Amino acid sequence: MKKQEDFNLKARDDRFFRAAYTVLSHYRIKKRPNPENGFAVFDIRGGTSDYVVRIHPEWAAPPQCSCPDAENRARDNARGYCKHIIAVLLSEKEFSCQLLEAFL
Ligand SMILES: [Zn+2]
Repeated sequence: MKKQEDFNLKARDDRFFRAAYTVLSHYRIKKRPNPENGFAVFDIRGGTSDYVVRIHPEWAAPPQCSCPDAENRARDNARGYCKHIIAVLLSEKEFSCQLLEAFL
């Protein structure tokens, strides 16, 4: 039972990191020059649609993304961390520790 659970967790993590690396290698992530309401704001371009990711530098709020996955599937599987959020957290050294939240 425990082993199966571990396996599922690993599969989930692998899937998210693969998706995030796809974002990193094929999409363009551009940080807006000024924070908005305390959030660092990133424009994600190059996918089927453009999305906006918001990261709070002091963890005062969870990361947000405008994509549908962040609202639906990712909420159940990774606390609302979609591949765009994970890609931004991976690419920004100052925010990378917030990645831990997705896997706790
Ligand atoms: Zn997203």
